[in-house]
Amino acid sequence: MSLSSFSGLGISPEILAALQDLGYEEPTPIQAEAIGKLMKGYDMIGQSQTGTGKTAAFGIPAIELTDPEDRRLQAVILCPTRELCMQVAEELRRLLKYKEGIRVLPIYGGQPIQHQIQALKGGVQIITATPGRLTDHLRRHTLRLDQVQIVVLDEADEMLNMGFREDMELILAQMPTPRQTVLFSATMPEAIRQLAEAYMEDPCFISVTPPEHLAADQIEQFYFEVKEKMKPEALCRLLTYENPRRALIFCNTKKQVDALTQLLRERNFRAEGLHGDLKQAQRDQVMKNYRSGETPILIATDIAARGLDISGIDIVFNYDLPEEEETYVHRIGRSARAGRSGKAFSFAVGKEIQYLQKLMDFSGALIQPRRLPSLQELEAHRRELLTEDLLQRIQNGTPARYKALAASLAEKAEPLDLLAALLARDLSVPSSSEEDPLSKAPTRILRENRGGGPMVKLHLNAGKKQQLRVKDIVGAIAGETGLPGSALGAITLMDHFTYVEVPAEAAEDILTIMNGCEIKGRKVRFEVAK
Ligand code: AMP
Repeated sequence: MSLSSFSGLGISPEILAALQDLGYEEPTPIQAEAIGKLMKGYDMIGQSQTGTGKTAAFGIPAIELTDPEDRRLQAVILCPTRELCMQVAEELRRLLKYKEGIRVLPIYGGQPIQHQIQALKGGVQIITATPGRLTDHLRRHTLRLDQVQIVVLDEADEMLNMGFREDMELILAQMPTPRQTVLFSATMPEAIRQLAEAYMEDPCFISVTPPEHLAADQIEQFYFEVKEKMKPEALCRLLTYENPRRALIFCNTKKQVDALTQLLRERNFRAEGLHGDLKQAQRDQVMKNYRSGETPILIATDIAARGLDISGIDIVFNYDLPEEEETYVHRIGRSARAGRSGKAFSFAVGKEIQYLQKLMDFSGALIQPRRLPSLQELEAHRRELLTEDLLQRIQNGTPARYKALAASLAEKAEPLDLLAALLARDLSVPSSSEEDPLSKAPTRILRENRGGGPMVKLHLNAGKKQQLRVKDIVGAIAGETGLPGSALGAITLMDHFTYVEVPAEAAEDILTIMNGCEIKGRKVRFEVAK
């Protein structure tokens, strides 16, 4: 096997041998770019995700920099999670297979600190650590940084998102100089740039993230205005309507991932959740099922989805909108891989609609408003899909055993009745005559307040005696509907009710959205005043 391209990077024979055992035949793009520069001692900012080989990209230089004869701590790798600390430590140990005398220790919260203190006393040259636990050791003086040659911030954006900013700064401020500082991050928000500015020395910048702005052009992006409590139903309806072969649903918290996974399963969707709390074996299984198509729906947090490199995702859902614009582009870039086109569906609640504008500016693409399919549309669409599917099956030739079963059934009942019964079972959606508030939800409550347009007076069934104030009402309507408070007209508080003037064109939307909402903890009703 040729290792010529790795050996051209100035890597020692022991590590080259380990690379050979690992089956790494040639450097990945990030390794090809980063290893040489890091070995020369440059500071570096790398924009890259997991799955690109970035661990070895910083791990190999960190190992090469470390002196096995010196038992003191020489390299610190900061990671956002326990899982990542362990993963990185494992990769380093694999790379160290033929190199003697270098010890690697993962240090994270949730493990008795005494064990770590004991292990550190034995002499450890490289640690992978969560920022919280590392500062804990610094406070206890159970760990010294004065011989550190290189510090790596892995998934720096995630560490910031997890609230580690202060810990990171505290750690960086205590690092000796000169030293080498390396930062990897999937996104580059302002806070990262500030951190780099404050603690790095003339860093070089490398990026192996595909230009996702370009990818975003091939993705049809839509948004649905919903109320928070409508989201589960809205999602089910879209999943049923679109019937994706592979869908990826993003939530902002692990708890939400779990809750949504359970909900979808209860509704008979084949869905699995992925987040950092799962054991590696569980994650592997979930990923295997998703890859094979066994599970068509995956629900994930951003961090859990980092390592995913899966093609053929038809729809990416932003069940919760991400906090960072870059994360949005990153999420939706999961569909439309390898030149295929894809769709991105986002739910926007209340004021989030204004945030969508920012997302559009950032991604340079259009995010179009879309209405949820009504129950009638859902049924009609499914009927179409079913018809197509049945005709296709007939064309392909139905297997003989089903023909035999059909013949025996036809002896028991009229073929038409049988067919109708099968359809009733297959197409069971709630009767379309039932009330369907979801598809009535407005597509665009956010309209410019043209001013001077006709107003409608609404009656609200609470007033002064319920401790309502004008600002509570304005706040609730603006918050729930996204309509700017300035668009509202006179608000007249009476003892037990209130008149609220609203733009006529938004009245119906306001009624749909606000009814059943709470203001100051009280369920309220709005109706057009008589
Ligand atoms: P990472 O981005 O560091 O999480 O690495 C992603 C995966 O790629 C890991 O399973 C590594 O073991 C593997 N890997 C890293 N570098 C190489 C390489 N040069 N050739 C093949 N696989 C690699």
